[in-house]
Amino acid sequence: MRYHNITKDDMLNGDGLRVVLWVAGCSHCCKGCQNPVTWDPNGGILFDDAAKNEIFEQLDQSYISGITFSGGDPLHHANHFDVMHLMSEIKEKYPEKTIWLYTGDSWEEIRLDPIIKYIDVLVDGEFKIEERDVTLCWKGSRNQRVIDVKRTLEQEESEIPIIYCEDYKIEGAHHAANCAVS
Ligand code: SF4
Repeated sequence: MRYHNITKDDMLNGDGLRVVLWVAGCSHCCKGCQNPVTWDPNGGILFDDAAKNEIFEQLDQSYISGITFSGGDPLHHANHFDVMHLMSEIKEKYPEKTIWLYTGDSWEEIRLDPIIKYIDVLVDGEFKIEERDVTLCWKGSRNQRVIDVKRTLEQEESEIPIIYCEDYKIEGAHHAANCAVS
């Protein structure tokens, strides 16, 4: 797996302060994508032990709520295996930290994927510029969904995802971090 960046104390890609891994590789080619530089799976730099330790050093901090996988698409075939392996390690080492993942795939396409069991919150679907809205919570276009994976999997049938939070932040709130959790 290759990646472009590891951002720290990030408040824009999930609840609380998070460490975010921006992987390389995406085949969705959404019109208006903000990160087309991340589409090439051969771009960026190799994800090595030093990068992993950088993430773990962040997760060691009590004020860090968890990790978000973004990109690029963490579920691109160039990333899927390594992302799942890393998630498994994180869940074992940091069971109290949450894992968020952004993908261009839809819940319906990936709900039976073995990687799903490691994810707490999934933001799914391609970015659609016609449905773009910068005031949405945790997502860029209205068609995308912020899915509570754990609650969804607790249901008898997991076809219908349970939405994690409202689409819009609370009136007058400064930041998406104030999104109302349903
Ligand atoms: S899925 Fe995300 S990274 Fe990939 S093209 Fe769409 S917006 Fe860009």
